[in-house]
Amino acid sequence: MIDYDVVVIGGGPAGMAAAISARQEGIERIVVLEKDDDLGGILNQCIHIGFGLYNFREELTGPEYAERFSKKLIDMNIEYKLNTTVIDITKDKIITAVNPEEGVVEIRAKSIILSMGCRERPRGDLNIPGSKCAGIYTAGTAQRFVNIEGVMPGKEIVILGSSDIGLLMARRVTLEGAKVNAVVDMMPYSIGLKRYEMQCLKDFNIPLMLNHTLVEIKGKDRLEGIIISKVDENRRPIKGTEEHISCDTLILSVSLMPDNALSLRAGVDISNITGGAIVNESMETSIEGIFACGNILHVHDLIDDVTNESYEAGRKAAKFVKGEYKRAEKNINIACGDGIRYVVPDTVNPNNLEEDLEISFKVDGLYKNAHISLLLDNREEICLSKRILAPGDMEKLKVSKTLLENNKEATKITLKVVN
Ligand SMILES: Cc1cc2nc3c(=O)[nH]c(=O)nc-3n(C[C@H](O)[C@H](O)[C@H](O)COP(=O)(O)OP(=O)(O)OC[C@H]3O[C@@H](n4cnc5c(N)ncnc54)[C@H](O)[C@@H]3O)c2cc1C
Repeated sequence: MIDYDVVVIGGGPAGMAAAISARQEGIERIVVLEKDDDLGGILNQCIHIGFGLYNFREELTGPEYAERFSKKLIDMNIEYKLNTTVIDITKDKIITAVNPEEGVVEIRAKSIILSMGCRERPRGDLNIPGSKCAGIYTAGTAQRFVNIEGVMPGKEIVILGSSDIGLLMARRVTLEGAKVNAVVDMMPYSIGLKRYEMQCLKDFNIPLMLNHTLVEIKGKDRLEGIIISKVDENRRPIKGTEEHISCDTLILSVSLMPDNALSLRAGVDISNITGGAIVNESMETSIEGIFACGNILHVHDLIDDVTNESYEAGRKAAKFVKGEYKRAEKNINIACGDGIRYVVPDTVNPNNLEEDLEISFKVDGLYKNAHISLLLDNREEICLSKRILAPGDMEKLKVSKTLLENNKEATKITLKVVN
């Protein structure tokens, strides 16, 4: 058994930022465990620009952004193990990992930072009827083919789902010579970032078919086409509205889910809305000393948010190791009111705040000219007007540290949309 102070699981942007900030807080014995053969996580295949707009005030590609952190990690002499897959974690913070050089390794950590990212829902999860022919890929796999392996998934493509990765892939395969016949989404709006809808679809004349869903796969050995249909207000296909679209490739960009199989093994409480851990203001999970950050916690649009949240997790893991972490008898709960789908964090201990509390949240529908209201117990403390609130966009709200410190006896913060 090897002992470390902080063990970071996952060497993507979240894990690297967390390790860096734990070291900046003076923690010596840190190790980052990464199952891939390189640090950087999903960013290694995101070769488009748009990363680091806030933290670096530059438009970097994913690999460039990742490199800034991997260089720093190396400069700071932070240990990392590549090709090392963590296969088990216990609530006592014993980690089992496996790699080709050492075989099975057991590590005892004072604190663990979970940063394993998210996974895509495959076809099997989606109950799509039709044959099991070739030519159906998740967007992440197709992105890896094109951007890392240099192989095109097909020539005539339909994309199911208008999340960021779907929109980006529509543009990417078009630039590489494929024809994208449609991006199809059952929602009445695109769920990806508005700027991607403009830059990736409108600029390339790619049709976005909203309020439509896939009802059948056509093809025996290789995909030959799909049947889509309009949906009613309950998202059910409307009979008689079926339409055939020919294609040899279907890219599924349906949803990303935090990949918490390992966290569950340790007994971490998971939110059934985000699929991520339930955390406090310090990104600490329901198990003392186990922290979570990045896409394992909730799916982020912006890398800068991942980085800032992970710096916080690393800082607080370090404080936990140094015995400087503060506990309260009872934390203040943060609840979702009308129109709010989820909030992160779920609770706050004002004693641990070093600056204002930032709450991240997503709304449950499209709202125009609405307000976001924050109640401390039943008293409205913040009311912000918003011209537009879209369910795909992560929103943020700052709550003053002083307000929370002066109201430690409060039991609940509620966030709601007032229309
Ligand atoms: C297609 C796409 C496009 C995006 N575009 C933008 C953009 O333009 N601008 C922007 O700001 N943001 C963008 N984002 C968002 C941003 O890239 C992500 O939010 C960010 O990469 C998440 O970082 P992470 O470290 O949490 O996860 P990841 O990058 O997924 O890293 C997780 C790491 O954990 C490792 N791991 C998993 N399980 C284990 C295990 N059991 N043992 C060891 N290691 C493990 C994985 O191999 C991986 O390296 C995009 C995201 C995607 C998916």
